[in-house]
Amino acid sequence: AKRAGYGDYAIFDASMHDSAVARLSLQTDLRQAIERGEFNLAYQPIVDPATGALFGFEALVRWDHPERGLISPVDFISVAEEIGVIRQIDHWVMREACLQLSKWQRQFSNPSLRMNLNTSAAEFVDPEFLKDLTKTMAEFSLLPQCIEIEITEGIFLHPSPEIASTIAAIRQLGVRIALDDFGTGYSSLSYINRFSIDTIKIDKSFIDDVCGDDRTRAIIDLIIKLGRTLDVAVVAEGVETKDQADALTAIGCRAVQGFYFARPLSINDATELLRRSME
Ligand code: C2E
Ligand code: CA
Ligand code: CA
Ligand code: CA
Repeated sequence: AKRAGYGDYAIFDASMHDSAVARLSLQTDLRQAIERGEFNLAYQPIVDPATGALFGFEALVRWDHPERGLISPVDFISVAEEIGVIRQIDHWVMREACLQLSKWQRQFSNPSLRMNLNTSAAEFVDPEFLKDLTKTMAEFSLLPQCIEIEITEGIFLHPSPEIASTIAAIRQLGVRIALDDFGTGYSSLSYINRFSIDTIKIDKSFIDDVCGDDRTRAIIDLIIKLGRTLDVAVVAEGVETKDQADALTAIGCRAVQGFYFARPLSINDATELLRRSME
């Protein structure tokens, strides 16, 4: 709110003040969160809707704040990007998720079990990212095709030659690339054409309408056919109901992720799911 007459100074009302202070303390806390071991990972299964077969997991970071409790990545990833600590967070996530993947692969004699990792635009083109990836795979003896790096169209907002060369270098390693939140950006189809991509993850906003809206279903159907033609895997994200799962199966979708099948799980719950999927 501004008061007229005394020049252009702004007066914070109590709620603005609170949120500015909250944001500042969030920044300070975020810088210390890694050393204090406040992050942990949830693992959300990616499954075949027709058989329930488990392909692997997406690693999703959680922040267990000492005073505020669990904070969603939606609320801190952008802050971490702004203050430049996203590299450290995603570095930690990569090591933690790859260590867990190697444990599960050995425990269940399944060397093809997969792990999906999210990235942020800022770290993706950092040469350290590629080094980390190579080192981590070697350290945990993981086959490169078991790791899938998820990128969003956001990284193409400021196109640079480094993006294309990073994607090429990752695929050169044999590591897979997924285009996340597919359909929410501006020219999704052109990215598939210009960059080699292994997987498309159809955004939840389309899946929400798969039962109710014929046009949306036609679009999903088209993406799945396109995937088959171009040899690109397609994952439907955010499947919440049996009707959605059935509709997707009918269209020929072979990989889904969502609360209907499983929420993001703790290590113990994910291990239990793996055990049951072996029976
Ligand atoms: P995302 O990569 O699109 O991840 C999927 C999000 O959808 C997750 O939210 C997941 O819990 C949620 N989800 C999955 N199935 C369903 C469903 O059926 N219904 C609904 N309503 N939601 C579902 P989450 O874990 O809160 O993560 C939010 C976003 O934060 C992620 O979106 C990703 O962009 C980012 N993120 C998470 N972990 C990391 C990380 O380690 N590094 C980076 N850079 N970003 C991360
Ligand atoms: Ca993702
Ligand atoms: Ca997504
Ligand atoms: Ca997202």
